[in-house]
Amino acid sequence: MVDVAKGLKATLSSLLIIGAIFLGVIETQQYWLAKISIFEQSLYGLFIITILFSSYFSHSSIAFLSAILGLFYLTINSNMAWSPWLVENENWLVVNGFLVCGLLGLIKDRGVLSIHGFNQIILLGLCGVTAYLWLITSDILMQYLAVNQYPETWGAYLPIEVPLFSVIVLLLWRSISTASLSVVALLVSALVWGFEHYQFLNLPWSIILTLLVSYYILVVVVDSYSLAYRDELTGLPSRRALKKLSLSLGNSYTVAMVDIDHFKSFNDKYGHDIGDQVLKLVASKLTEVKKGGKVFRYGGEEFTIVFPRKSLAHSKQELERIRKLIANYKMVIRAPKRQTKEERANGKNSNKKVSVTISIGVAKRTLKQDFEQTLKVADQALYKAKKSGRNNVST
Ligand code: GH3
Ligand code: MG
Ligand code: MG
Repeated sequence: MVDVAKGLKATLSSLLIIGAIFLGVIETQQYWLAKISIFEQSLYGLFIITILFSSYFSHSSIAFLSAILGLFYLTINSNMAWSPWLVENENWLVVNGFLVCGLLGLIKDRGVLSIHGFNQIILLGLCGVTAYLWLITSDILMQYLAVNQYPETWGAYLPIEVPLFSVIVLLLWRSISTASLSVVALLVSALVWGFEHYQFLNLPWSIILTLLVSYYILVVVVDSYSLAYRDELTGLPSRRALKKLSLSLGNSYTVAMVDIDHFKSFNDKYGHDIGDQVLKLVASKLTEVKKGGKVFRYGGEEFTIVFPRKSLAHSKQELERIRKLIANYKMVIRAPKRQTKEERANGKNSNKKVSVTISIGVAKRTLKQDFEQTLKVADQALYKAKKSGRNNVST
């Protein structure tokens, strides 16, 4: 699970930005209202682009939501076979919208054109059935409450507010615990759907949907970008991101190569899963580096730290601090979830404290050296650090 602070940050910042954009659009109606036909005409194209784009990048939740909203927009603009039924059953449409957002927030993003995509379509169909059954159930409950003389408002909140509130709480929890921008997009969509039901937004559907669909495209772009440039295990920028940074560095910088000591025997002793946990913990400690150091996972148990515009002495001093921080850090390792009773009784694999050390080689770029060459010098310095007993910083 991603840490809560990260999830809170992603959720709150997205909500604030989207809220501000909607407010801005509401406040500037006089400027765009005359040109609304442009949005109306381009929206279908935008829907198709979003569906294709998000499917291509395996963002099935965004793809399905866009397809459903596209169908909804088509329905309110043209007289479809099911339009009269929808007008009569507006509550079903509202509740179904919430349930669809909730369901998409629970299932994993998969390829759209696969068996998983097919299963998701079946589940989405079940949302419609559930919404229908819920409205019948809430009707019965309302009658029951009325007969037993409960306050009238209790029953009145059942059909719409109960599903709305449940889905918002569910999506809020999911977006904070996963820090996934697609889940935040589902939360935003459910909120917009709810706001529109209560007529808080006071905007035409063409504008609301243009904003939502553009936001979806942005989410897919940002998500795919971070997938390509982030290491999945540690969450650190990957070697590809390091390569990208190297193209924009100036002439003055230092590079450090960091390697965990005796990690192979650590894995042999505690197992690969605990090794992975330790890699994550070391990675998160490395990000505490100051003096403008940027941390990357180079590969395996090796990391790279780049200090733009820093002298060798300054970088070395900071690296020393980080080295000591890690050497003194007692890492608490979680016991695996699946444990036999016997293992538990023996205390085997229960939470334990371990520690590791790191060796660091650091080099400053010299005249006429390119990034790769500086990195190589740092790697040679790392070799020296290993040779001289490990758990030290060498140049
Ligand atoms: P040294 O002090 O000389 O660096 O010894 P070492 O054992 O750390 O060095 P070596 O390069 O021989 O071994 C690196 C080990 O790191 C091999 C592999 O088991 C482990 N390793 C690399 N990537 C991962 C990973 O993603 N997860 C886990 N658990 N282990 C990894
Ligand atoms: Mg190594
Ligand atoms: Mg090593």
